[in-house]
Amino acid sequence: SATWESVPQAPPDVIFQLTAAYKADKYEKKVNLGVGAYRDNDGKPWVLPSVKKAQAILLNDDTVDHEYLSITGLPEFVASAAKLILGKDSAATSEGRVTSVQTISGTGANHLAAVFLARFYDWSRAGGEKKIYISNPTWANHKAIFNAAGIEPVDYPYYDAKTVGLDFEGFTGALKSAPNRSVFLLHACAHNPTGVDPTKEQWGAISDIFLAKGHMAFFDCAYQGFASGSLDADAFAVRHFVAQKNIPLLICQSFAKNAGLYGERVGALHVVSASKKQEAAVKSQLSVIQRAEISNPPAFGARVVSLILNDNALWEQWNKDVKFMAERIIDMRKQLHSLLTEKHKTPAPGGNWDHILKQIGMFSYLGLTPKQVKYIVDEGHIYMTGNSRISMAGLNTHNVAYVAEVIDKAAR
Ligand code: PLP
Repeated sequence: SATWESVPQAPPDVIFQLTAAYKADKYEKKVNLGVGAYRDNDGKPWVLPSVKKAQAILLNDDTVDHEYLSITGLPEFVASAAKLILGKDSAATSEGRVTSVQTISGTGANHLAAVFLARFYDWSRAGGEKKIYISNPTWANHKAIFNAAGIEPVDYPYYDAKTVGLDFEGFTGALKSAPNRSVFLLHACAHNPTGVDPTKEQWGAISDIFLAKGHMAFFDCAYQGFASGSLDADAFAVRHFVAQKNIPLLICQSFAKNAGLYGERVGALHVVSASKKQEAAVKSQLSVIQRAEISNPPAFGARVVSLILNDNALWEQWNKDVKFMAERIIDMRKQLHSLLTEKHKTPAPGGNWDHILKQIGMFSYLGLTPKQVKYIVDEGHIYMTGNSRISMAGLNTHNVAYVAEVIDKAAR
């Protein structure tokens, strides 16, 4: 019999399936609001001007070769990536307590962190079982990543369908009732898929519980700059936790979205330890895992980002680029909100459409029912996931009126 006869067919990935269906659709007004990638006002992928300039510099640099990077990646990239998320004056960095390793974008950072935790986190003092608490809902890949590493993902309450906002009571209740020293995954900013983030005050209350319970914070930071348009402002939660000193934490960092380097796979894992001695041991073990898995990370994208982070003119340009993307998205929120509220007076889940304005980052949770979503996809040829998450980046001045019209019809 054939060798692979007993291999069962796996279900297709929902997001990539949605893109394929969109591509195959011949309808003129079709819209793709599924994929989490930035698009310009003509619905096209956008190469950031800062990235274009950095690429040009690299292509003309005769000293750039194609040798292997070291196991932990390009040193100037990881150092400046740590500075970007932790801040220029981070005590953790100056005290030598941060281990930074270059990874295969944010997914690779999540994976490396998961494998590291599975092997080295002291689970016996955290209830005895390998578990990570993840928000309900969360990025679809989190469950698969932790399951693959032998860590059981457990949901904590996060999104409240009634308010189309944060279930703060449920969230903090779960933090309090979990065994001491549990591992909680937190979205650093621009929560995917809901676009619902805690306020600064709420982050303060959350970090107090982490301190009291000895919990470990597993930050996933895939959208720094996308939430507010400011790279510093979007690092608030991470920096606040790091400043508490006694919260064990790590950060998975991606440059896919904020540098538009999706396919180049540029990311980093930063583990903040309590001492310099621990930092060295952590680095040695991350190197062992990385060596067996990918040997060493890819060079090109890391060189691009490193140039941008270390050259004044490119840095300024990049800050403008990030702001430009965030502002276009925020503008689309305003336009969609105003069309639904003022033009169509569309009945809204929870009484109004203000959640579209309040939600942050690339995504918005509209709060529609699966039946309404089905109508939008089938009748409107507007592609979105069944949970009514839309990528705001898929909206533009040419299609927003049409999208509002179809949402209005679906909601009546
Ligand atoms: N984490 C979250 C919450 C995400 O939304 C994404 C991408 O959509 C990622 C991580 C990882 O993306 P990448 O591997 O492309 O950096």
